[in-house]
Amino acid sequence: MPSLERWVYFFGNGRADGSAAMRDILGGKGAGLAEMANLGLPVPPGFTISAKLCITYLEQGTFPDQLHEEVDRHLKQLEQATKKKFGDAGNPLLVSVRSGAAVSMPGMMETILNLGLNDETVQGLLAGSKNPRFAYDSYRRFVQMYGDVVFDLGKELFEEVLGERKRHRKAARDIDLPPDDLKALVHEFKSIIQAKRGVPFPEDPTAQLWGAIEAVFQSWRTRRAVDYRKVHGIPDDLGTAVNVVAMVYGNMGDDSGTGVAFTRDCRTGENLLNGDFLTNAQGEDVVSGARTPDPLFKMKRGKLARVYQELEGVTAKLERHFKDVQDIEFTFEHGRLYMLQTRRAQRTGLAAVRIAVEMVEERLITPDEAVQRVPPQDLDQLFHPMVDPRAAVTVVAKGLPASPGAAIGEAVFDADEAEALARRGHQVILVRPETSPEDFHGIVAARAVLTARGGMTSHAAVVARGMGKTCVVGAQAIEVDPHAGRFRANGRVVKQGQVITVDGTTGRVILGAAKLVEPKVGAHYAKLMAWADQRRRLRVRANADTPADAKRAREFGAEGIGLCRTEHMFFEGDRIIAMREMIVAPDEAGRRRALAKLLPMQRSDFEGIFAAMDGYPVTIRLLDPPLHEFLPHTRAEVAQLAKVMKLPPAQLGRIVASLVEANPMLGHRGCRLGITYPEITEMQARAIFEAACRVVARGKKVVTEVMIPLVAHVEELRRQAAIVRRVAREVFQADGRAAPYLVGTMIELPRAALTADEIAKEADFFSFGTNDLTQTTFGLSRDDAGRFLPFYVERGILRDDPFQVLDQDGVGKLVEIAVRLGRGARNELKIGICGEHGGEPASVKFCHRVGMNYVSCSPFRVPIARLAAAQAALEEQGVINRTRATV
Ligand code: PEP
Ligand code: MG
Repeated sequence: MPSLERWVYFFGNGRADGSAAMRDILGGKGAGLAEMANLGLPVPPGFTISAKLCITYLEQGTFPDQLHEEVDRHLKQLEQATKKKFGDAGNPLLVSVRSGAAVSMPGMMETILNLGLNDETVQGLLAGSKNPRFAYDSYRRFVQMYGDVVFDLGKELFEEVLGERKRHRKAARDIDLPPDDLKALVHEFKSIIQAKRGVPFPEDPTAQLWGAIEAVFQSWRTRRAVDYRKVHGIPDDLGTAVNVVAMVYGNMGDDSGTGVAFTRDCRTGENLLNGDFLTNAQGEDVVSGARTPDPLFKMKRGKLARVYQELEGVTAKLERHFKDVQDIEFTFEHGRLYMLQTRRAQRTGLAAVRIAVEMVEERLITPDEAVQRVPPQDLDQLFHPMVDPRAAVTVVAKGLPASPGAAIGEAVFDADEAEALARRGHQVILVRPETSPEDFHGIVAARAVLTARGGMTSHAAVVARGMGKTCVVGAQAIEVDPHAGRFRANGRVVKQGQVITVDGTTGRVILGAAKLVEPKVGAHYAKLMAWADQRRRLRVRANADTPADAKRAREFGAEGIGLCRTEHMFFEGDRIIAMREMIVAPDEAGRRRALAKLLPMQRSDFEGIFAAMDGYPVTIRLLDPPLHEFLPHTRAEVAQLAKVMKLPPAQLGRIVASLVEANPMLGHRGCRLGITYPEITEMQARAIFEAACRVVARGKKVVTEVMIPLVAHVEELRRQAAIVRRVAREVFQADGRAAPYLVGTMIELPRAALTADEIAKEADFFSFGTNDLTQTTFGLSRDDAGRFLPFYVERGILRDDPFQVLDQDGVGKLVEIAVRLGRGARNELKIGICGEHGGEPASVKFCHRVGMNYVSCSPFRVPIARLAAAQAALEEQGVINRTRATV
């Protein structure tokens, strides 16, 4: 039975079957073309085959029965619209066949241009244009792309033959070759296909069309497309649509050309139309990086000024319509402008913030929309290091600053190698002659990307920018030899493994490791964050262990400390000796002697932190880690400690050996230490409250939250809390001052979550330790999971690493239970999170939804959490992005 579903949608001549709202079906490109046609913009006519067919075609290898008939019908419509005929030798209709998924994946899938050409139809193209060079250049491009995409032969075979011809003729550009050479290339390319694949190149345009349609669907599964989706969290089951569009020609002479434009600067956010163009070229030349294009502003004067003016008008209209920055592809044929694509432009975090804020100022969007528009994770890029402007550096080359920030690493010339080295912990810079989508996995692995050729819109530049990765392209002074593993630049040679610095802010390539500094954020950031802060309900605190961290946390906007890991204070300098003395002490008296040495050290740290936080709450967690972390490991360390303790080294060695645990993460750690050695809890409580009194004495406010770690049973908390409260009373009595304080617990074990009602009776607050809660819920060791967890994510068993993104279905369920039970027992219970997830946007939104009071994360992630919290609040109020569906 024929299905009622429609698979093909037409656009052109001022109208379209679809619109921007139909991205799921038409893909981004198809939706953009349809919307532009509806707006009356100059779009060549064409049709889009639904993305809904992609996955079923890939799984079953066939199309629904009526698809052929639907495509035929739309092809006829296209013939009428263009007054040309597909396969006609006199006046042939040629088409481009291009992919386009609902979510933009720049350069990741396929394009074929000039489809419909064969030995007969090329005569029609020749007669119509009276330009043999154009006709045969179009033909050889078509056979070349077809060989690459449909016959899967890659680009290199063809490029080699083409390069050879160009060298022979001393031709700078492909189009400079004489027509006879271009014609000969067509035949050579066809022979390559015949030789490599054992079948002739299809001369029948209909067979060409179906071969191309299938290849575009198949391109959804190429490695680079799969990798790109993984990095950007794009679902694998979206599929791509196929766009079949009447050709317009940028390679018809010097009054023709093609280009890419951005309505604002996507590196900085500046409101300035910019981009690249090439005259006498076809679409792929600009983005492939094969020729270095000219900057768009050069079109302003001279013969192309009128085209530029029209382009300015059209792009401004598109931006106003979509209320977002557009990334546009255009072609001009004998001075006539055509729009080939419009989509939401990828941008750096810096640009995202400036654009969102300025669009509010221009009354294009509301502050709510601005807050929702910036991906929280992208704020991270605002704090990227940059090369210290005062540092003396050796610049070996300069290229285009494609994506800002600076990165240091070893030069690597191959994407596979970059990936392998990064996996082994190396910091690498991927250096390539030109940017190519096949390098995608190498770009992901690298700290920065550097290319000798390519413009600001080359694929890898766009991709790197989208990932916030430092990138310099088109560094023309560089001669890269990937096979030899080196590049030359201005008389110097940089070999594989040699350290370089890439400065994506200025485009400089620097020899060695330059000094990097943190940038200062500007007024746009402050404005956006002020809007975010007005909208969020969650408080945002930082995890900070030292006064310096606490100060930085305040600068990032933290409203308190949600986790101060006191054990971190014991690793420094000679503190570790006192700590070790405490652990190995044979009796309580010995332990107390060692603790007495530790007390003043802790007290001074706490004083510093309280002072830095000046009245904001500070959560101090009592000692948590397994004792073995502090034990002396080497003989020298044992001997050193033995001397301090006046013990024979052999005896100390035996004590140390007796403390080794088989499974320390589940061993003698957390509150179990304070339960067995209450004097540790006493000392820490004393240090905390004495520090509080001293800071109060200086006229400052102090709010302390003492937190008991790794509680599984309420009785553990009850006993530890009793000690803390007793010491507080003693200290306040002796000092004559007091400071408000709470005693609470971490919820980081499943048993604690499941008995949270009992525990809440003893706790003033809960803080979810989702690192341990993930470890114990999954039964996955935090220390060992790295060996196999990436495999789980790669194979799709888990969508994300649960130590980075909270597992809302499993661990999250325990969190929800604990929040419900806890608040049921104690209505006003303060609840937060201090595991790593407290700074991860999706997890922050989860914390908002379950009704926590705050999240706490590392200082650098505080801005991310603030913005994510604001977005969560807006989502809850149902304030959806009113921006017109953008493509
Ligand atoms: C946790 O377990 O989530 C936590 C914050 O504590 P730590 O990482 O110190 O074990
Ligand atoms: Mg923990």
